Amino acid sequence: MAQGVDAAELGILLVVSGPSGVGKTSVVQALADRMAFHFSVSWTTRRPRPGEQDGVDYVFVDRAVFEHGIAAGGFLEWAEYSGYLYGTPREAVIAHLERGENVLLDIENDGAGQVKRAYPEAVLVFILPPTMEELERRLRSRGDTSDEDIRKRLAVAEEQINEAERDFDILVTNTEVAAVADEIVSILAAATGP
Ligand code: 5GP
Repeated sequence: MAQGVDAAELGILLVVSGPSGVGKTSVVQALADRMAFHFSVSWTTRRPRPGEQDGVDYVFVDRAVFEHGIAAGGFLEWAEYSGYLYGTPREAVIAHLERGENVLLDIENDGAGQVKRAYPEAVLVFILPPTMEELERRLRSRGDTSDEDIRKRLAVAEEQINEAERDFDILVTNTEVAAVADEIVSILAAATGP
């Protein structure tokens, strides 16, 4: 992907995954206080939740626009999750890595696997909930997700957790956000050397 660019000059591609509701957004915010990275804003076909901004949290598009993006090869990875499409715009990620900047992707398991196959140097972190009951409590506390959506997300979470050990480089349990962020930073420091 980075022909003519010395690998040592590339930024780190950090992929953070974990079940919906596990607290990835808080972990990503805590990471931002500890390391520099470009946050890749994904495209999605789901509707914005209250407070979410187009172009900041996601680029919100309809299915036809998303499918056009797929056909044009515009995604580094994409996946269908809970009935909606989600994808990482390819160009921006590559441009930042080639400038030596770290890039962080907050994406689900299938997408993380696609990234690892396309770019084996990527570091894949999976965040586990302390318990499934706690995950359900966190999903319900959002107050904007229907019962049916919660049921679907919990079923998907079970599958993702079962697969995570096989596919991810690092598994961290989210008991406390700051501790998770500290752990990720120290693992990256050890992995990338002085
Ligand atoms: P939510 O709808 O709760 O914001 O996100 C649902 C799931 O989609 C989360 O696990 C989130 O990490 C994942 N996701 C967000 N953006 C992308 C993306 O670009 N690609 C993939 N594969 N998953 C994404």
